[in-house]
Amino acid sequence: MDVIKYDSDILPSYWKRGDPTPYRFLSDQFVLVDGQTGRLIITEVLTNMLRTIIRHSPADLLPALYLSSNSIAPPYEGIELGIGPQIMVKAITSISDMTSKHIKAAWDQKGDWGDVVVTARLNMRTLMKPKPLSVASVFQTLRKIAQLKGQGTVSVKTDLVKKMMVACQSEELRYLARTLVSHIRIGAVRTTILIALSHALLMEFEILGKTLKKEEVKVRFKEAEQILKECYAQVPNYNILVPLLLDPSVGLSGILKACKCQPGVPIRPMLGKITRDLTEVFEKMQGVKYCADFKYDGQRAQIHRAEDGRVTIFSRHLETMTDKYPDLVSLIPTFCSPPTTSFIMDSEVVAVDDNGRIQPFQTLTNRARKNVDVRDIKVGVKICCFDLMYLNGESLIKEPFRVRRDRMKEAFKVVEGQFGFVPQLESNDPEEVHDFLKKSLDAGCEGLMVKMLDKPPDTDKNTLLATYEPDKRTDGWLKVKKDYVEGLADSFDLVPIGAWYGTGRKAGWYSPFLMACYNPETEQYETLCKCMSGFSDAFYKEKLAKYAKGGENVIPAPKSYYVVSESLRPDVWFLPLEVWEIRGADLTLSPVHRAAAGKADEVRGISLRFPRFIRERDDKNPEDATTPDQIVEMFHKQRTRAPQAPSDNAEE
Ligand code: ATP
Repeated sequence: MDVIKYDSDILPSYWKRGDPTPYRFLSDQFVLVDGQTGRLIITEVLTNMLRTIIRHSPADLLPALYLSSNSIAPPYEGIELGIGPQIMVKAITSISDMTSKHIKAAWDQKGDWGDVVVTARLNMRTLMKPKPLSVASVFQTLRKIAQLKGQGTVSVKTDLVKKMMVACQSEELRYLARTLVSHIRIGAVRTTILIALSHALLMEFEILGKTLKKEEVKVRFKEAEQILKECYAQVPNYNILVPLLLDPSVGLSGILKACKCQPGVPIRPMLGKITRDLTEVFEKMQGVKYCADFKYDGQRAQIHRAEDGRVTIFSRHLETMTDKYPDLVSLIPTFCSPPTTSFIMDSEVVAVDDNGRIQPFQTLTNRARKNVDVRDIKVGVKICCFDLMYLNGESLIKEPFRVRRDRMKEAFKVVEGQFGFVPQLESNDPEEVHDFLKKSLDAGCEGLMVKMLDKPPDTDKNTLLATYEPDKRTDGWLKVKKDYVEGLADSFDLVPIGAWYGTGRKAGWYSPFLMACYNPETEQYETLCKCMSGFSDAFYKEKLAKYAKGGENVIPAPKSYYVVSESLRPDVWFLPLEVWEIRGADLTLSPVHRAAAGKADEVRGISLRFPRFIRERDDKNPEDATTPDQIVEMFHKQRTRAPQAPSDNAEE
């Protein structure tokens, strides 16, 4: 039997009981997890940190969560600090003897503002001892900085940064600097923080002092993790979740009931699983009713309308893009059927010509991204609606797809060329589904999305879910893409993490680029291929400027979280900043690339042969890149397995 005791109620000497959480407490924990790659250790340190805060200064839980996750607001609010090298250099030079030249040299050597700034600290002139920083004061100052917009704010921002910097003690300065440039990277991304928070709440409020068996504790931990992940997928906003979690009448046990999706707060989108072909779909959907949707190739848009008429449109990775589509906002009243007032719908926005005919994805990318004026719009778009998660004050996500779909069809009406429902076939006849796939390809679509319609029968197929499952890739949605005919079932969304200097025609540019997938379990980037084809000259120029040597996007050495074998040493290393869609001929085991190493083969990783750039994925963050598990799945699904000769440089 394990008795759960709170055994670390001792506060550090610099934290007086009853006082708010010192910023130093946070930075001390960051020191403990910095450079760690072991998930367990990071989770444990963060759990203890959050437990201590919950117990001694619960009001600081919210700012502590933000500061640990490199943000100051929910991601979709798009609130940015707007602190770049200019402000950092100004602040550091004015509080130290370092010149901008010294700073530049230090940056070139270290590639990290936190490490640069601690060398400056030695020279720092402090006249009067300032008040120590607290978690709340740092957070409030950051929020204040973010609100400063426009000309003349640089000096105000610099002053605020300076004030915080001179008040730093111990290791605070390193982490403050990293926070200021939004690159804290302590290995604590969303999932780890949610797990740590769930453990902290469970231990502090539910099992404290209880006598429980070890196994029982494990089960409770798992349950708590699932609860918080599910809540966050529905309501990715700590401002809403934290007060509920700290409310004794709600807490961890009541949060699932209390937190409901709501217009204005995006839901993390449900995702589809790739399949090899329709035969695999039929196997998976055996004995259940399903339907097949056309799979449009446009931009995913989650459209929200609140009771007061306010409209918000969110992208695939929850960025607000309402100002990109003013034409869609004004279209809404025309397709709502009374009594529809508020709703959250899932849709694909596609470009259309003057006759309402669907245009290729490329046309959509010609549309401006921000602050679009309706009068300037040259590329018309259409909403292809495929799901409804909320209607008139009621959440529908726990309803089976059949119900959601029927409510969707009642709630909205077709507006020719501007709003419609994705074409759908409800049939379990393989021949009809095959024909429908062909029809979708003929119509310029990417393939089909096959969706389970009803509540699953009581079988062991518990991944076949007809409910809307935010942030999950279940068998309830199966993707069938035309590419399977061409070899691989899907393309890859990869992150460029480095590049070599080009030769011949490409001299002066970067070519090839070193591409990596993202492992969400270890939070590491694992290389999958070198890509040197499919790029335009304009693209080469743009990337050379973006990753200019000595610039802020280039780092002197690979990050500790890059998994790259010794034999791959690009000329320049990049920060992980963007996602590119890459297609290839086949996947092969590789002694060089480290993607999914240990998963398909005990030692070797997987590499992608003949990679070719397709497009930039602005709608994805590096952490949304293809995962090693997906790569392994595709590796096994390959129809004709490539010869297993190791190949790593087969780009062109
Ligand atoms: P994922 O979103 O699964 O990570 P991805 O962004 O690379 O992958 P795809 O693999 O091409 O995209 O497939 C999923 C996307 O298909 C959805 O995000 C959505 O934008 C789009 N889509 C088009 N039509 C439909 C449809 N009928 N139902 C669901 N999604 C659709």
